[in-house]
Amino acid sequence: MWVRKSAEIISVEAAEKEQSVRSFSTPLKIAAVSTAAAAILFSLGVRVGGGGIFHLKPPGTEYIRQNPWSLGLVFVIVFVWTYLKQRTTGESELMPSTNALLCPRCFEAHPPGTDLCPCGGQPEPLSHWEWRDEEEEAREAAR
Ligand SMILES: [Zn+2]
Repeated sequence: MWVRKSAEIISVEAAEKEQSVRSFSTPLKIAAVSTAAAAILFSLGVRVGGGGIFHLKPPGTEYIRQNPWSLGLVFVIVFVWTYLKQRTTGESELMPSTNALLCPRCFEAHPPGTDLCPCGGQPEPLSHWEWRDEEEEAREAAR
């Protein structure tokens, strides 16, 4: 059954989400992984030329040694892009969240932006609710 979370839990979760949206940690990880992937691709001979066209050159690390900025550029671009996306969409790349709504009367799920449920209820963010297994609940109550 659906159970509304307490106001305290909702506000703690909102604060945690706000913090994760401002955190540099995920964008830094993604940028680091992308830079490592770029280093591997560059050493395999992959180059990006004019107009975003990929070229294949003989493999080797010479290009990276001669153009160390190329990896720095990959890091900066991926970091800035990932961080801005995280701030504007309000969700972290590694922790996607749902914007779905739940009707508190009939417990039907609704897409974001639904103002009124056909039953007359006013849908609320699904994140304010949690699903509890009734059998589990009964077992816990028996303890
Ligand atoms: Zn409803």
